[in-house]
Amino acid sequence: MCKLINKDDYFSKCEKRQLRLILQTFLVFLLFISSIAGAVRIKPQFQYDYIGADQEYIDKLDIELKQKLKYIESNLETELKGSVKVILTLSEDDFARKTRGGVPGWAGGIAYPQQQTVVLKTPLFFGQGVPVEVLAAHEVTHVLIHQIIGDNYLPRWLEEGLCQVLAGESRTGSFGAMGRAAAANRLMGLPRVDHVLGFSRPDANLAYTESRYATAALVDRFGWRAINDLLSRIGDGTEFEEAFFLAIGVDYEFWQVEWLEDARTKYSVMALLEMQNLIWIIILLLAILAMIVTFVRRKLQLRRWTEEEEDEDDYNEPIFPE
Ligand SMILES: [Zn+2]
Repeated sequence: MCKLINKDDYFSKCEKRQLRLILQTFLVFLLFISSIAGAVRIKPQFQYDYIGADQEYIDKLDIELKQKLKYIESNLETELKGSVKVILTLSEDDFARKTRGGVPGWAGGIAYPQQQTVVLKTPLFFGQGVPVEVLAAHEVTHVLIHQIIGDNYLPRWLEEGLCQVLAGESRTGSFGAMGRAAAANRLMGLPRVDHVLGFSRPDANLAYTESRYATAALVDRFGWRAINDLLSRIGDGTEFEEAFFLAIGVDYEFWQVEWLEDARTKYSVMALLEMQNLIWIIILLLAILAMIVTFVRRKLQLRRWTEEEEDEDDYNEPIFPE
């Protein structure tokens, strides 16, 4: 309370105190608002953990990853909740340390969806022709998928397939490997992809490639709406095969057997059109052409010799001049 000393003093002092109080309250309010805004601002979608990479590299990765995220979110009809920690490693040792040695050597990265963390190999030592923003988008897709399905079971071929399709990922030589496997009747089939973590590098590459082609075929035929319906049903606790039938409208066993049979035919034929095979076809055609030319030349030579022999015979005939 203010003491009344003088009417003017009272108003002026009280006014000053009230004004100070209002200003202080306003300042505290401003600080509170700015701290909330600041917290939002300093908590971006991706937080990068790296050593040795320059800031420009990270800024570029951030821009490209955010663009890819928009595409992934729109197809999955969801939004990334919270922030994802992106750890970049620069050597096999570094990667093994950050993942506690629990990841096969052929992997380009790993996602820990519950911790909203992904660990990536930079392309310098991964060397599968996959850019770092694509690897990052692949692992972030794992996080998004698990935000929808939780810990419920989704076959690994479909999860890895979705990550590859949505990240725009294609590994070097995967098309050729698929064609050769199809032509040699070595396609492994989708259920086996569940055990990919125990596979060798070539088998893992084939498993990932089959997963990508099968998922692309599923999306092309039934659309993203059916895929999203399937994921949300799994998230609600429906078992995969039942959710597949309800969302896609086709029996899962039937579909995956049919896909494998179609893939054997389709990719065997396409393998013939692959550049590498085209070179062999050209070499084969050239060899056949060389054989034809040799055959014709020998035929001509034989004919010439026969004609020459006939001419000689003409000269040996008795001459009967008129
Ligand atoms: Zn993956």
